[in-house]
Amino acid sequence: MYEVRFHGRGGQGAVMAAQALASAAFQEGGYATAFPFFGAERRGAPVLAFTRIDKKRIYRKTQVYEPDFVVILDEGLVDTVNVVEGLKKGGMVIVNTAKKPEEVDVGIDVKLATVDATTVALEVLKQPATNSAILGAIAKATGLVKIESIEKGIIQVFGDRLGPKIGDLNAKAARVAYDRTVLGESHGHRPLKTAKKWLPDVNELPMGVASIPMKTEAGTVGPGSFRENKTGNWRVFRPEYDKEKCTMCNFCWFYCPEGCIDRNGDRMDFDMGYCKGCGICANECPAEAIKMVR
Ligand code: SF4
Ligand code: SF4
Repeated sequence: MYEVRFHGRGGQGAVMAAQALASAAFQEGGYATAFPFFGAERRGAPVLAFTRIDKKRIYRKTQVYEPDFVVILDEGLVDTVNVVEGLKKGGMVIVNTAKKPEEVDVGIDVKLATVDATTVALEVLKQPATNSAILGAIAKATGLVKIESIEKGIIQVFGDRLGPKIGDLNAKAARVAYDRTVLGESHGHRPLKTAKKWLPDVNELPMGVASIPMKTEAGTVGPGSFRENKTGNWRVFRPEYDKEKCTMCNFCWFYCPEGCIDRNGDRMDFDMGYCKGCGICANECPAEAIKMVR
């Protein structure tokens, strides 16, 4: 049995990628299962998805703790999660990044493949949905399934949910990524992240509404706790601000879900440590003073 663990962020489509990989294996006559794991986190928070592939029926139902392959849809996750935890000896990591394999450090010496799935997605789909492109890289790097089966799997899973046209486009993104995937090795120098509890224990939580920040083993809860979560590394696009067009209406300040826009004299300032690149400010700005750029 082969086990694959996907690390992505809410909204990146890790779950559909896991399902399309399972569908591809099924096209080749094998057995496959796929399922996600996420809590109550918002869009952009780390999520996991899993695929198991075998020639025989699969009875194992747990999360994948000892994967043969780890797939990382967002390179920024390498800084926040121990992505290689439990990776089998001889296993492989596949990363969405513009870097070469030897330039990526996941904390251990490992076979590693890279593909700039974000650029492929922007070119083919016109949006940074990297899940189909990363599937092309999986076919190239692992040989688990053929690229033709991946294309069929995408057309089935993506096409069913999003329509046949989108299914075809995503299959094209997978093929382009397949051709651009670079295989290699990387050496680990960075310290591995130690696993942190996923959630505070119920006994650590304050009674009723928290009125002051409280430290727990899993981090701070209550007012101001979001400051610990630097959402700036979730970003693909960043807001570009044109002060000349700005009328200081404060709409962007009001709508920004991260509260990272501040009025500073006669201009607005954007805190890139927290801006997650959602584009809401650009959408809401009546003066078109904000443009989202890569
Ligand atoms: S893109 Fe705009 S609205 Fe979204 S987080 Fe960044 S500053 Fe806030
Ligand atoms: S919404 Fe646009 S015009 Fe209004 S303050 Fe923000 S940048 Fe300026």
